[in-house]
Amino acid sequence: MSTRPMISRSDRPSASRRAQPAPRSSASACGITRGTLRATPVDIAAKPAPPFRLASRQFHPESSVVRAGGISIGAGLVVIAGPCSIESRRQILETARCVKAAGANMLRGGAYKPRTSPYDFQGLGEKALRWLAEAGEATGLPVVTEVLSQEDVERVAEHADLIQVGARNMQNTALLRKLARAKKPILLKRGPSATIAEWLLAAEYLLAGGNPNVVLCERGIRTFETATRNTLDLAGVALVKQLSHLPVLVDPSHATGMRSLVPAASRAAVAVGADGLLIEVHPRPAEAWSDGAQSLEPEAFAALVRELRAWPVRTNAIA
Ligand code: PEP
Ligand code: MN
Repeated sequence: MSTRPMISRSDRPSASRRAQPAPRSSASACGITRGTLRATPVDIAAKPAPPFRLASRQFHPESSVVRAGGISIGAGLVVIAGPCSIESRRQILETARCVKAAGANMLRGGAYKPRTSPYDFQGLGEKALRWLAEAGEATGLPVVTEVLSQEDVERVAEHADLIQVGARNMQNTALLRKLARAKKPILLKRGPSATIAEWLLAAEYLLAGGNPNVVLCERGIRTFETATRNTLDLAGVALVKQLSHLPVLVDPSHATGMRSLVPAASRAAVAVGADGLLIEVHPRPAEAWSDGAQSLEPEAFAALVRELRAWPVRTNAIA
């Protein structure tokens, strides 16, 4: 791993704040610490303390496992699937049954939708939350859904097993501070233009505020390329696995915007060490109220999960 600092010059902490010694800084040349201390890669130990202290692997060498509704995230491959938006009770129940049969571990579905245009469908709100919870109970799948605003945190926390902070809200610090006090784990998506340091510092708001149950999700970033909806930062996933002990998921649906690319992006994500996938699935994508073009049909989703679960080698790579 490069020894280049993770933060820009202007963001660097002052010398006085940076000067505190790292807990495991007595690494030998081969990267193994002496005495009772554990082995630590020398390049991590030798680096100055990063500003995301609680998220950093430097002070927490073991990978964290986050429990959400009975599912362990960070200990194998977790697959979360479901529609972009919850459109009806019937639609979410039907999707839940399909993704459960295909081997998903958790059900996703949006009740509050962050849309680019105010004229687009904004989600069905509280009744959709209730349908999602009902679909989760009917299938035994814990559920994931997004919260958009501080005022909805309690309502969403009541129904969700894992609360999603969407890409657009990654740096909504008031929302992060409130979620830090929620008694539910948080899925923190990377902002479309956020650097890795900014993403980890957003996670730090949750951790420092008292919520240790944080899962990261790379969902593609904005680049000059417009042929795909976003650009999936695969190296970023591998790097964040090295820099942080938090589990990292990949959302190949929003990263690509195209159904045909979701299997390839999913394979690549697992190969670089993702702890799981967040995949949009709709029983009839052509009829979807949002993100139909990137939603897999149930059969294609089932084939993908079968393939990934049959891989002989698990990576969850770090080095
Ligand atoms: C979503 O998960 O449907 C969503 C809107 O994601 P993102 O915040 O990554 O755009
Ligand atoms: Mn979507």
